[in-house]
Amino acid sequence: MTPKLSTVVSLLMTLAAGVAIGGDERSDSASSKTQDVAVDEKKASETKAPPTRKELFRGEVVFLHDALKKRGVNAYEEELSGQIVLDTSDGRLIPIVPDWRGRAFYQDDRLRNRRVELIGQRKSGLPYLQVLMVFTFDENGGRQYTDYWCDICAIPMYEIKLCECCQGDIELRFQPQDLPDYIKKPAHEQSTARSSEGDHPAGRNSTER
Ligand SMILES: [Zn+2]
Repeated sequence: MTPKLSTVVSLLMTLAAGVAIGGDERSDSASSKTQDVAVDEKKASETKAPPTRKELFRGEVVFLHDALKKRGVNAYEEELSGQIVLDTSDGRLIPIVPDWRGRAFYQDDRLRNRRVELIGQRKSGLPYLQVLMVFTFDENGGRQYTDYWCDICAIPMYEIKLCECCQGDIELRFQPQDLPDYIKKPAHEQSTARSSEGDHPAGRNSTER
């Protein structure tokens, strides 16, 4: 490359850079496209991560202080006040996230200190259980899908509150129901299980105010 040619090339490159900087609108739209791509790539990488598996948990939901006491661990009750755990049938304590579904265990003493089966998930590295479905058992051992129900509006709810529709009182509802098929399968076959958030069977059975 002769010195002259290299000067021309460098001049052209400078001009090209000037055009890119000058074209504000184009450069904005290009950069927002780049951001979109970045977001898509992030979503794609999140999708590639192994999905959080839904699992079945059995036991009783109790106050943490009681569960510790039962195990001979003395702790000040004041600091533990209100903390709820699942005391599993194999002796583990799993704290329950007070979210749209787990919150009912904090609110409703009818759901505590009784045998339950919970379908839920735990994020990697976290001890907390995010509950998705609640099953309780009647006096004859019959499995009951358990949620809340407004008799007037005929809509299910998952925590204690006034009805989302009529603002009236809601009832605790029990419906005889088997576990969903996807949870009966061995754990290694559950990866294709779809989200069961909002799962609720049609029809109604017994309710309790
Ligand atoms: Zn209602």
